[in-house]
Amino acid sequence: MDARRAWQQWTDWVLTTDPAQRLRLSMAGLAALLMVACMLVMNGVAWAGLTARTPVLVWSVLCSTGLVVVYVAIRSGWSQRCADPSLTLPQIVYAMACNAVAYTIAGPARGVTLPILAVILMFGIFGLSTRQMLGVLVYGLVAFGTALGVVAWRHEAGHEPALEIAHAAMIVVVLLSGTFLTTRVQATRQHLRRQKHELTLALEQILRLATRDALTGLFNRRHMLELLERELGRTARPPRSIVLAQLDIDHFKAINDQHGHAAGDKALQTFADVVSASVRQSDVLARWGGEEFVLLLCDTPLGEAQQLLERVRTAVAQAAPRDAGDGVAFTVSIGAAVHTPGEAAERTLERADRALYAAKAAGRNRVVLCPGSAAESATTAAPPPA
Ligand code: GH3
Ligand code: MG
Ligand code: MG
Repeated sequence: MDARRAWQQWTDWVLTTDPAQRLRLSMAGLAALLMVACMLVMNGVAWAGLTARTPVLVWSVLCSTGLVVVYVAIRSGWSQRCADPSLTLPQIVYAMACNAVAYTIAGPARGVTLPILAVILMFGIFGLSTRQMLGVLVYGLVAFGTALGVVAWRHEAGHEPALEIAHAAMIVVVLLSGTFLTTRVQATRQHLRRQKHELTLALEQILRLATRDALTGLFNRRHMLELLERELGRTARPPRSIVLAQLDIDHFKAINDQHGHAAGDKALQTFADVVSASVRQSDVLARWGGEEFVLLLCDTPLGEAQQLLERVRTAVAQAAPRDAGDGVAFTVSIGAAVHTPGEAAERTLERADRALYAAKAAGRNRVVLCPGSAAESATTAAPPPA
C-alpha cells in the first residue's frame, strides 16, 4: 500500500497531476525511451568494435541533453507559451538530427538507424499539421542527404557505393511513406474531431429542444416536472421552505382576439422576460402550457415568497409588451402553495392552482397563497384597484 502511494507520489511529481501535462510528458517519455534504446544499440555497436567509441559517447551526451531540455521545458510549464505545448515539432526535428548524425558515426552498422526514422515520423501524428509534416519531409531529405554525403565523402573502410545507394533509396521510401501515412491518419483524426464537435452541438440542441419551450426559451413542463421531483424529493434537515406558484395571464384570450395571435406570442415572450428579470437566479420559471407558468422558489420563507410574487405581479402590470404597441397591456394572477415535506409535487401544484382559481375569482391581478398550507393565515396580497 505504501509502495503504491510512494509510486503515485513519484509519478505525480515526474508527470504532474494536470491531465494535459501528464499526457505531454508521457509522450515525451515514450520518445525518450526510444532515444535511450537507440543510444544502447549505438553504444553496443561501439563496444563491439564496429565503430569508434568517442563519437558515439559524445553523440549519446548530446541526445541525453536534448531529452532533459524537452522534459524541463514541458514540466516547468514553459512550453505552454508555445502554440504546441507538447513541443512535437522541435522534438521531431531534434530526433531526426540525432538519427542523421548516428548514421554518419555508426560505421558499417549505420543501417540500424534507418527503422528509427519511420518511428520518429509517427510522432507527427500527434501534433503536426499537414504543412508541418511536409516541412519535416523536406528537412528529413536534407538531413539524411547530408549524412549520406558525409559518409560518401569520408570513404571509410567498408564503404560500399551500392550499399549507400540502397540506404539512400530506403531513406526516401521511409520518409515518403511515413509522411503519407502520417498525414492520412491526421486527416482521419481531424474528421473524427469535427464529427465529435458536430455531435456535441447536436446533443446540445436536442437537450435544448427536449427541455425548453420554443416560444419563450423557458423550461418546458416535462423538464420542470423532473426538476420538481428532484428538488422536492431531496430530504433536508431542517426541512427547506419551498414555495410553488402558478401564474396565469389575465384575459389573455382578449389579447389574441383584439391584437392578433402574433401580438399574443410577443406578449408571452415579454411576460417570460419580465418575470425572469423579477425573480432570483436560484428561482426556476417554466412555461406550463398556453399562458400558464410555474415558478419554483427554493429555500424561501413564506414572507419572502409573498414579497417576491407581489414584485412579479407589479412588474408584469407595468410591462409594455415588446413591439406590440401601447394598446397591449396585461396583468397576471398568481396562486402559491408552500410545499409540505413528503408531499408529491402534483399535490402542491394542485393547491397552488386552487389559490390561482381564488385569485381569478377575486378579480384577477393579485397573489393568493393557498389556504390550508402552512401559510394559512397569509392568504392574499392586496389587489390594486381594477
Ligand atoms: P383568464 O383571465 O381567466 O385566465 O382568461 P384567459 O383569456 O387568459 O384564459 P383562457 O384559458 O380562456 O385563454 C387562454 C388563451 O391563451 C387561449 C389560447 O388561444 C391562448 N394561447 C395559448 N397558447 C398560446 C400561444 O402560444 N400563443 C398565443 N398567441 N396564444 C396562446
Ligand atoms: Mg389566462
Ligand atoms: Mg389559463
